[in-house]
Amino acid sequence: MGLIVKNHILSLRTEKGIELIDITEKVEELVKSSGVKEGMCIVSAPHATASIVLNENETGLIEDLKELIEELFPRNGKYRHNLIDDNASAHLASSFLGSSKVIPISGGKLLRGTWQNILFLELDGPRSRREAVITIMGVNDDRENE
Ligand code: ZN
Repeated sequence: MGLIVKNHILSLRTEKGIELIDITEKVEELVKSSGVKEGMCIVSAPHATASIVLNENETGLIEDLKELIEELFPRNGKYRHNLIDDNASAHLASSFLGSSKVIPISGGKLLRGTWQNILFLELDGPRSRREAVITIMGVNDDRENE
């Protein structure tokens, strides 16, 4: 068994203030090509105004989520950070929602629920340069190398 650790950066571009980008397929391809059979996958957004969400990519639910974020973190709220920048609501939403998720890998596949898609959540778009960092670590089952 050999330990494998791989980091990949997915480059993303967003077009709206709040937007969800489904990166499930790309992450699954990376897990498959990594050769990791048992381990974990960390998906993180290296940004203070974005998040990673695991949930269903259903149009109505996506709209519900965006609306709730706008209700909980109104863009025009009276925030101190808005005195130096105009995006306090995005920083606050990202702080509460979190910027990374860990998904177990077993049998070479992500152990995620059927309705758990991996979504990059833009909170302060549009942005021409966003990233999702995919860290895949674990062991393969190549016993010939032992
Ligand atoms: Zn700011």
